[in-house]
Amino acid sequence: MPKTVLVVDDSAMMRKIVIKNLKDCGFDVQIVEAGDGKEGLEKFSAGGIDLVLTDWNMPNMDGVTMVREIRKLDPEKKIPIIMITTEGSADKVKEAVLAGASNYLAKPFTPDRFKEKLGKFLA
Ligand SMILES: [Mg+2]
Repeated sequence: MPKTVLVVDDSAMMRKIVIKNLKDCGFDVQIVEAGDGKEGLEKFSAGGIDLVLTDWNMPNMDGVTMVREIRKLDPEKKIPIIMITTEGSADKVKEAVLAGASNYLAKPFTPDRFKEKLGKFLA
């Protein structure tokens, strides 16, 4: 049964790259897209999401704020959230984890790195 992945990024090109990588890795997924954290939160709230992949820097609501809001709805962290971002400093990683992110993938990423980070969540 396919897993439903919510892909949140304000760059349509970046969403395309992430979705292409998901497909190229052979993961059995269906995709829900959102262009900012606010839309991402709305789509998460609608239900049925198995995994969230999100950018950090976005208009209206940034990724880390969206992670905090999602964790209010999912305090047991049942749904994994991976941040995919250029914000790769130790402080930022720590902030993301404290907000409730499950893992972290630095941009730009290679297909191998992508598969390695996401494999355990989509197996
Ligand atoms: Mg962005």
